[in-house]
Amino acid sequence: MTVGSTVKTYQAYIGGRWIDAAEGGTRESIDPYRQETWAVVPECKAADAQLAVTAARSAFEGPWGDTDGRERGRLMRRFAELIRRDADHLASVESRDNGKLYREMRGQLQAIPDYYDYFAGAADKLFGTVIPSGKDDYMAYTLREPVGVVGAIGVWNSPLLVTTFKLAPALAAGCTMVLKPAEQTPASALEFARLFEEAGFPPGVFNVVPGDGPTTGAAVVANPGVDKVAFTGSTATGIEVARNAASHLARVTLELGGKSPNIVFEDAKFESAVNGVVAGVFAATGQTCIAGSRVLVERSIHDEFVEVLAERAKRIKLGDPQDPATEMGPIAFAEQAEKVLSYVGYAREDGARIAAGGRRSDLGGLFVEPTVVADVTNDMRVAREEIFGPVVSVIPFDDEQAAIDIANDSPFGLAAGVWTQNVARAHRVASKLRSGIVWVNSYRVASYAVPFGGMKMSGYGRENSLEALNEYLETKAVYVRTGEDERDPFTMG
Ligand code: NAD
Repeated sequence: MTVGSTVKTYQAYIGGRWIDAAEGGTRESIDPYRQETWAVVPECKAADAQLAVTAARSAFEGPWGDTDGRERGRLMRRFAELIRRDADHLASVESRDNGKLYREMRGQLQAIPDYYDYFAGAADKLFGTVIPSGKDDYMAYTLREPVGVVGAIGVWNSPLLVTTFKLAPALAAGCTMVLKPAEQTPASALEFARLFEEAGFPPGVFNVVPGDGPTTGAAVVANPGVDKVAFTGSTATGIEVARNAASHLARVTLELGGKSPNIVFEDAKFESAVNGVVAGVFAATGQTCIAGSRVLVERSIHDEFVEVLAERAKRIKLGDPQDPATEMGPIAFAEQAEKVLSYVGYAREDGARIAAGGRRSDLGGLFVEPTVVADVTNDMRVAREEIFGPVVSVIPFDDEQAAIDIANDSPFGLAAGVWTQNVARAHRVASKLRSGIVWVNSYRVASYAVPFGGMKMSGYGRENSLEALNEYLETKAVYVRTGEDERDPFTMG
């Protein structure tokens, strides 16, 4: 691995201070397009995680706990403005870290401030309810209070967006946070922290401890000072995280992997469906949890669909993620590229046909060709396991019920697409799919105002929308005795 000519050096952000890791270790962050080191970040360990949790706890029990909702909202809006100001810079940092298209990351950075604005509007509206208690001498009401310190574990494919899914509702609720970003993409979270500081939040409200998962991430999750864990990553790690969080009964939300079906009926607009399949699995080099990686196509149009999709896949322009003409960047890191290619091998072994791609690109480096695998059956590895790359499996189906059955026959349940011009069918199928998100005649759309999350092995809990606030709030019940007569102390009230 070469070292770039201008390597940026970062420090961790703990308790409002910029510091090196206690043990002094560092990690190189690699630009996957140039295959060179472009940044160096501290490699935090358990001691740093402990320091960050202590700082987050002090802020929660101190200045941040005393900050009312209106002021929290004001700070969040200021933060949003600063992100808008620096969106281009943040997008290029993300693109350098994970190799995704600059235009994709820029789109995300332009959307991210809206999440803070949206949740800022909720920060001063977190009221409980007065409840008819069913007891004559008691008035009852609820208070909604922040859960406390949040341990957030980030992922590399959309680092700041995924962080925002957690941070925006957490701040609105009045929580504090320790973020452990993904090993591959630590820089943008530290750039984010700089803006957080500039916005004027009290020290310790947001802390960033770069480090690896099994050491630093696990130390955050297992820390008894963490009240809630917000995790995005693979299903295998999510299970481990839930287990470790259970050691001190921290609440957990898990945003995990997927094998999402994109279902194309014969009555769909053909070109739109092809475009939607491309958007679902080749955008972002397929490195997205919601990738529409299983395409189910009605048999009557199946062969033509595969042919057109394969042609379209072969025309996708690979190249420099910073170049606006590029449609697909490299895979984010070498191990992941190997994993993606190994699935092409499994597909062949299982008797599937590679209709397009299937190899490393002639561009070299970490580029893998957009790959269309045809003649797939739903029991093949390529249809059951998440690949997290530009590989789509096409499976034929005979009728609507068969499409629903195949779609639901998966350990995952994150997202799904339905392509049809029949309105009744669209709603019918949407209601029968076991997934947290369904797009009709579209794919890969997300909004701060709409719940996001999965079922089955894709995790639990919801991010985005007002529902997400509940993940960061406790409900406290208060009974007020209004009767005057003395009660019998040996009976329940
Ligand atoms: P991963 O599970 O290997 O890593 C994710 C994060 O967990 C990293 O920050 C890592 O350091 C940390 N980690 C690893 N071991 C840990 C441990 N024992 N304790 C605490 N933290 C630990 O994920 P990956 O394979 O690098 O990322 C891709 C996965 O993320 C895919 O499965 C993808 O679907 C999923 N993902 C899901 C969503 C979603 O919102 N559902 C979004 C993006 C990515």
